[in-house]
Amino acid sequence: MYQGSCLCGSVSYELKSPPKAVTNCHCNMCQKQHGTAFATYGSVPLKDLVYLKGREMLVAYESSSGITRKFCGTCGSSVEWSGNSKFPDWVSIAIGTLDTPLTVNRIKDVHPDTKVCWLHSESTS
Ligand SMILES: [Zn+2]
Ligand SMILES: [Zn+2]
Repeated sequence: MYQGSCLCGSVSYELKSPPKAVTNCHCNMCQKQHGTAFATYGSVPLKDLVYLKGREMLVAYESSSGITRKFCGTCGSSVEWSGNSKFPDWVSIAIGTLDTPLTVNRIKDVHPDTKVCWLHSESTS
C-alpha cells in the first residue's frame, strides 16, 4: 500500500499496487505543467487508485486530445495523467507526490529529444 498527497494536503490518495513502468517524461507539456526539467510518472490500474480525500479539489486539464492531467486546484501539485489509448484501464501518477518510500529498479526516459539543454545527469565541478 502506497500513500501520496499534494503540497497543501487537500488531496490524498492510496495506491493498492506499486506504480509500474516508472518513466521520466521529457516532453514539453510535462515541463510546462510541472515547471521542471521532466516529470516522473508510475502507472497503476485505475481500480488501484483510491482517493482518501480531496478528489473534488482536483482540476482536470486536457493537454492534448484524450489526455487528461489532474492537479490540485489549491496548490497546483500534479497528481494524475490518463488517457493512453493503449492502456485505457491504467492511470499514471506523478510519483513525486508519494509519501511512502518506493523502490524503483529502472526508470525509463521518454521524449529525450525535447530534454532541456540545462539538465545534466552528472554533476560536474
Ligand atoms: Zn494541494
Ligand atoms: Zn510528458
